[in-house]
Amino acid sequence: MKIAVIGTGYVGLVMGAGLAEIGHSVRCLDRDEDLIRELQQGRLPIHEAGLEELYARNMEEERLSFTSDPAEAVGDAVVVFVCVGTPSRSDGSANLDAVFEAAETIARRMTGYRIIVNKSTCPPGTTDAIAQRIAQLTTHDFDVVSNPEFLREGSAVDDFMRPDRIIVGAEDVRVLEIMRELYAPLLRTGNPFLKMSVRSAELAKYAVNTMLAARISMINQLSQLAEVYGADIEEVREGLASDKRIGGAYIYPSLGYGGSCLPKDVQACIRLARDRGVPGDLFEAIHSTNEHQLQRFIDRILGHYGAAIRDKRLAFWGATFKARTDDVRNAPGLRVVDALLDAGARVVAYDPVAGAKLKGLYGDRIETAAKTYAALEGADGLVIAAEWREFQSPDYERMAALMREPVIFDGRNLYAPRSVAERGFKYFSIGRPSPEE
Ligand code: NAD
Repeated sequence: MKIAVIGTGYVGLVMGAGLAEIGHSVRCLDRDEDLIRELQQGRLPIHEAGLEELYARNMEEERLSFTSDPAEAVGDAVVVFVCVGTPSRSDGSANLDAVFEAAETIARRMTGYRIIVNKSTCPPGTTDAIAQRIAQLTTHDFDVVSNPEFLREGSAVDDFMRPDRIIVGAEDVRVLEIMRELYAPLLRTGNPFLKMSVRSAELAKYAVNTMLAARISMINQLSQLAEVYGADIEEVREGLASDKRIGGAYIYPSLGYGGSCLPKDVQACIRLARDRGVPGDLFEAIHSTNEHQLQRFIDRILGHYGAAIRDKRLAFWGATFKARTDDVRNAPGLRVVDALLDAGARVVAYDPVAGAKLKGLYGDRIETAAKTYAALEGADGLVIAAEWREFQSPDYERMAALMREPVIFDGRNLYAPRSVAERGFKYFSIGRPSPEE
């Protein structure tokens, strides 16, 4: 099938490469011309396991191409995917400007019937609004469907190629058949193709992300109970995870969730509830618990050093909102970095893949280390914000030899408190016994 993808960010690029991999001819468009130039020249703008291979193979096979010319992208595509960003506005609502702009681009360039598929996360009613805008600008026939994406950064290629399910919100049976055919190679394992109303599909995406955020906030709030009642949240987590009704996903205690999706989608739900006068207090609690968790983590670091923090040099491992991605958008770890800088500390950060992004964000305000242990030289403490594997079994002797003060603030509970303490470290983690101050 001839496919166009509008927006080649984390979702669009992975999806474009993934659809090419199953045999479709995919042309990707982005309004960022530099990005398209990079992609045409063989450079990938994001880090995702397996993406480079998919990209190289399908460029070579000429099933995947990139353009900044809308006419070239939309011209002969049967199906046009919209994968542009929908960030939060200051009132929490989803900013849909890029979605409508993409819709107008399609409307002005389509040369015949098209199926327009909205992959961007948008509030219920957006798909209808897209259809109205397109109808004002073209005389050609078209259908607009909602097809939310559930891939996770860090395992995006795998998630896209092996989806738990494909959700398509559409009314027209023929359109549903085309969508099913398009995705058929990804559903051979028997995972379902779920057809539903357009508005249900739109809301299903928010439902999933809000539920996942709720699990994280729940374990994080439980971690505070564990701390004050002398329990160990990791043992509690095992108790929870072993219950088949609950399972183990998204219940890892941490400094809080972040990234470009969960925070904005929870905010959007709060706004959607407020706009229609229905209760959104649970959504609000998910958000405020997350904020509180992050603030507690920051306060613990600031509280440990007190006024002396101005003379401290703190090492920082992992800048992204989780491991295996280079995405630093809304990363809670960066809020920690900001607070440390505000308090006058010096920060030396190491991230396995996001070093350049960190430099771009902070310039000379922080130092970046090229290697894990280099960040620890002369450090008065180490802050861990992301759970990269390479941080998980460190050489404690080497760490202690490099650091001026052996203190660890672990926002991911990577280590066993007793064994780190036995090695001479002051170890602060989440929801577990902390050393006496
Ligand atoms: P992104 O910011 O990484 O990429 C969006 C791209 O769209 C950018 O490259 C931008 O230049 C381009 N763009 C914006 N307006 C355009 C226009 N009018 N024409 C052409 N290009 C345009 O965003 P993302 O993380 O890929 O997310 C895209 C959507 O998918 C969002 O709604 C998001 O909520 C949703 N989503 C994201 C993820 C994720 O893990 N990132 C997962 C599932 C769903």
